[in-house]
Amino acid sequence: MTQEGTTPAFNFIRAIIADDLKKGKNAGRVVTRFPPEPNGYLHIGHAKSICLNFTLAADNKGVCHLRYDDTNPEKEEVEYIKSIQRDVKWLGFDWGKHLYYASDYFEKLYNCAVELIKRGKAYVCSLNADEIRDYRGTLTEAGKESPYRDRSVKENLDLFHRMRKGEFPDGAYVLRAKIDMASGNLNMRDPALYRIKRIAHHRTKDAWCIYPMYDFAHCLSDSIEGITHSICTLEFEDHRPLYDWILDELQVERHPQQIEFARLNISYTVLSKRKLLALVNEGHVGGWDDPRMPTLSGLRRRGYTPEAIRDFCERIGVAKRESLVDTALLAHCLREDLNKRALRVMGVLRPLRVVIDNYPEGQIEELDAINNPEDLNMGTRKVPFSRVIYIEREDFREDPPQKFFRLAPGREVRLRYAYFITCVNCVKDEKTGEIIELHCTYDPATKGGDAPDGRKVKGTIHWVSVLHALKAEVRLCEHLFTQPIPDEEEADFRSHLNQNSIQVLKPCYLEPSLQSAKSDAYYQFERQGYFCVDSVDSKSNALVFNRSVSLRDTWAKIEKKGK
Ligand code: ATP
Ligand code: MG
Repeated sequence: MTQEGTTPAFNFIRAIIADDLKKGKNAGRVVTRFPPEPNGYLHIGHAKSICLNFTLAADNKGVCHLRYDDTNPEKEEVEYIKSIQRDVKWLGFDWGKHLYYASDYFEKLYNCAVELIKRGKAYVCSLNADEIRDYRGTLTEAGKESPYRDRSVKENLDLFHRMRKGEFPDGAYVLRAKIDMASGNLNMRDPALYRIKRIAHHRTKDAWCIYPMYDFAHCLSDSIEGITHSICTLEFEDHRPLYDWILDELQVERHPQQIEFARLNISYTVLSKRKLLALVNEGHVGGWDDPRMPTLSGLRRRGYTPEAIRDFCERIGVAKRESLVDTALLAHCLREDLNKRALRVMGVLRPLRVVIDNYPEGQIEELDAINNPEDLNMGTRKVPFSRVIYIEREDFREDPPQKFFRLAPGREVRLRYAYFITCVNCVKDEKTGEIIELHCTYDPATKGGDAPDGRKVKGTIHWVSVLHALKAEVRLCEHLFTQPIPDEEEADFRSHLNQNSIQVLKPCYLEPSLQSAKSDAYYQFERQGYFCVDSVDSKSNALVFNRSVSLRDTWAKIEKKGK
């Protein structure tokens, strides 16, 4: 799916596909797949793979399958299956009728294993896991052949059949490919194809007590589905010889081409389901959809749009070399998108009461405010104004430093869409000295924010009428980690957790139009950033908003410097 009118950047995978089409390979078909293992929620790294696979297929009149690689029942759950479909749809992609499960192929895969045994290319091994590891050798040393390698086909068939029937305990036997214990590629040293595991599977229930290994199931699932281009991340490059070996030895009709690309890494976060699961299980975050998480459900709850994520995936491109993408780019893509379409509103996050002494008591005015200066078609709305308002605490300084153009004793500023006000006095708490209230006067001639005498003010600040304010909780999220690569040393990524990754502000006061804010709507709180309703915790009598992203665009600065 190409976004309106833009041509996706050319990359080496597109080049391979274009070449295949030119040569008439695969009878001109392009079939890709996105193959998640349902052992966690999808993250932004998966989004890269989803966008790539679905877009390549669509741009070449092909199809992209969604296939669950559900061969390891120990870690897989139905909750994950559901979340994956929801997230892929939300990103804007459609697998149509092509939803598959590797577990649907268990019988076929079993038959393929039997076929390999018959061809003398697989054997049942009685070594235990430790022994297999010892026999495997190292990168510099050849492995040793298993003493069970030369079992007869008959004996292998019998043992494998009995493995399936459940005659043996877990670990008693494994089915292994018979390849080459001296291969320079460890994956080719008689890798395991099937293991005994007495665990019920979320789909096949108790039908099986042996399960295929990923490498065996994956290539065959691709072949069964007629995948033409099997696109995966670089860590599978060393598995490609095995992928091809299995398909070649079985002389399958359809032999997909595996193509590897570099996985996405983003600074200040981790992108591994195992580590994300640890964050969830150990309570470092509130769940997979915590707005600080790099999961698609977390990003959605945070206020990310599918458009911004697709734009991000397009911009980072596809390459063969690992790299670290600056998280500021992701934020930049969101700002670019929301700037076009977010409704502008006013919300005060750290309130300070202001009484406008000369404004008539009991008077309320409905002032016109522009919904989005970037898109005047979005119209205007009315915002109520009255004698007592909240402004942002940081918009007042009793002793203003140079270049502070906001409110200070004797200073005049513009209240957005309202009036010029001048500060005449600040009231302090007698005990603590904290400023608790300001007194100001307003100039009735400046309604709408302009002075008829042409006098200028340097500062414009936002405000909310106390009488009409909606009380809300606002959550500000920062990076989850304090280090650009938190898992550089595998052992202690937890020690780099940012202890201040979430800041909860309450009470905050918002303009009344936000009472009806929907959880899938996007707002800009003027001068504060982009915000959305928290889809989980917000209630109509207890509003909760998340800041999706601040207005400060560090990426734009980086880009400018680079030019
Ligand atoms: P993780 O390492 O996060 O556990 P995974 O690779 O084990 O991820 P899978 O469910 O097997 O997760 O991934 C499904 C697909 O998404 C695979 O094709 C995988 O290569 C791709 N993928 C996973 N992580 C990334 C990433 N960071 N960047 C790009 N593609 C990714
Ligand atoms: Mg995986």
